[in-house]
Amino acid sequence: MDCIFCKIAAGEIPSKRVYEDSDVLAFYDINPQAPVHILIIPKAHIGGADEITRENGAAAGQCLAAAAGIARDLGINDFRVVTNNGASAGQTVRHLHFHLLAGRELGDMITPGPCPLPPDS
Ligand code: AMP
Ligand code: ZN
Repeated sequence: MDCIFCKIAAGEIPSKRVYEDSDVLAFYDINPQAPVHILIIPKAHIGGADEITRENGAAAGQCLAAAAGIARDLGINDFRVVTNNGASAGQTVRHLHFHLLAGRELGDMITPGPCPLPPDS
């Protein structure tokens, strides 16, 4: 499959690995948005959060467990874990990944944009 994160998981594309087990790989984001910006992926391809099912969902839980473990290992108490699903939500790589962000004031959860509903509805 022509998937950059599958290639990173397979070691075909280099990455700066932070954590790895049989199901999960974590590596530093190539374009960090915070002093700590780590991506956590399931090794088995899942396109995005919309493809999480009861059958494959344990891998997503393993990713979150890995994120918490990495934060503990790095001595980080305050962090954000986020996944983007779909182009308009900011997903650029179609392989499920969780961003672990920390090390600065992270501000609002959602970038301000046009609101589809009037404020008093
Ligand atoms: P998203 O926009 O949520 O799909 O996140 C994709 C992330 O992957 C972005 O933050 C990119 O900087 C990151 N990224 C893309 N290619 C690589 C790579 N080869 N190594 C590490 N991070 C990457
Ligand atoms: Zn993939």
